Amino acid sequence: MNPFFNPLLSISFLKNYILDPGRTKRLTPSQIERYRDRSLRRILSYAYTVPVYRKKYRQIGLHIQEITEIKDIKKLPFISKQDLRNGFPDEIVPEKSNKKKFYIVSTGGTTGRPISIYTDLPTMLRGITITLREMKYFKLNLRKTKIAHIGNFSRYRIDHVFQEKLMKHLKPFYSMKNTLNIDVNQPIKTIMHMLNNFKPDLIISYPAVFQHLAFLKRKGYGKNVNPKLLQVGGAILDEYTRSYVEDTFRCRLLNIYSSVEAGANIAFECPEGNWHIHHDFFHVEAVDKNMEPVTPGERGHIVITRLWGRGTPIIRYTGMDDWVTLSDNKKCSCGLQTPLFETPVEGRKRATIVLPNGKIFPPGAFCFISSVLHDLKTYKIKQYQIIQKRIDEIEILLVIDEDLRDKPPSFEEISNAIEKVYRTKVGPDVKIIIKEVKEIKGDPNSDKPPQIVVSHVKPEDGYKFI
Ligand SMILES: [Zn+2]
Repeated sequence: MNPFFNPLLSISFLKNYILDPGRTKRLTPSQIERYRDRSLRRILSYAYTVPVYRKKYRQIGLHIQEITEIKDIKKLPFISKQDLRNGFPDEIVPEKSNKKKFYIVSTGGTTGRPISIYTDLPTMLRGITITLREMKYFKLNLRKTKIAHIGNFSRYRIDHVFQEKLMKHLKPFYSMKNTLNIDVNQPIKTIMHMLNNFKPDLIISYPAVFQHLAFLKRKGYGKNVNPKLLQVGGAILDEYTRSYVEDTFRCRLLNIYSSVEAGANIAFECPEGNWHIHHDFFHVEAVDKNMEPVTPGERGHIVITRLWGRGTPIIRYTGMDDWVTLSDNKKCSCGLQTPLFETPVEGRKRATIVLPNGKIFPPGAFCFISSVLHDLKTYKIKQYQIIQKRIDEIEILLVIDEDLRDKPPSFEEISNAIEKVYRTKVGPDVKIIIKEVKEIKGDPNSDKPPQIVVSHVKPEDGYKFI
């Protein structure tokens, strides 16, 4: 049965469909705060029916009635990836709930062992309204815009669950001709071919996928692939990849920040380069290594609270492992007034670079190649990767575009310039090896394309230097 024929469900979807996208524009800041307070109270009383949360709250003698506003949220204990993993399957949804109405979604293996949580149809639909808001913001017509999503469609991955469970129910309401889901695990030329036939207006994927598509486009593939906007998530986007791709497709490549646990985009980047947080859907905090909140403007580890949805609640969840800097009431000139991330989300804690001189770089802050190549005015490097092999050894892999091989600057010139900039950052005690490779392979334990910065140094080793 199509669940939309359940009138209650379709009314609530329609209500959200109408109200959600414009909320941040329609309401005054204090109205939004009240809306957030109400959403928190609602989600907390739901969480109290979920054993993994109730046990934690009881343990510290917390009565959820004490939490009436968002600013009280600091009284709530954190929930970790391990908590959710231990609670799977029975303790992470309300007791005695009928699991048939839930779907399992799992995270990828890039940040340690995957975890599985539950979602349901209304929650997935609510997540869509966030995308609708973004499309509206970018002035993309919802009925006409053709969206291609190059993602991970293995079983239980959220993209797959979305496609299987949700899209088929949307058919009566939304033209399937306008969306194309492409599995990332196939040859890039096949992907380009599919895009060429589909002619997308919006493409959503990972940085490395765009990098490869741009490379093919430069070689004359994908004549009909002329999107209006590209959105990228799931990994750090460095400035070189961004300018390479934007220059190729002649449109913007902007970040979205989402996760399986969040079930939707938490934030998106506007053309001004600011990351707007969907703060009526999520409450975002940043904490230091002692789990104490950091002040706005300081870098911390992200903690998220999903202020909506059913299935497994996500309240003060620490499992996302990214570094963020929350801004202090900074206003964006694009006109959208929401809280912002002050700097781009800086990627997985696990890929953090820690050096013998005590310096620490989140992966997003360790890409100095972009500026070197920009200064040399070259697109000769097709792809690159920075690997910290040991605390005192860094290897930089470069893939050269064969068609530009004989054009200046020379490989030596490029590699000398790269070495020079890294030397100033890492100090004299770190060995820097720069070499040319034919290709850069992804992590065999992950199904995502290769990361730009990889570290084999354990974060624990790193913390010794903080
Ligand atoms: Zn903006």
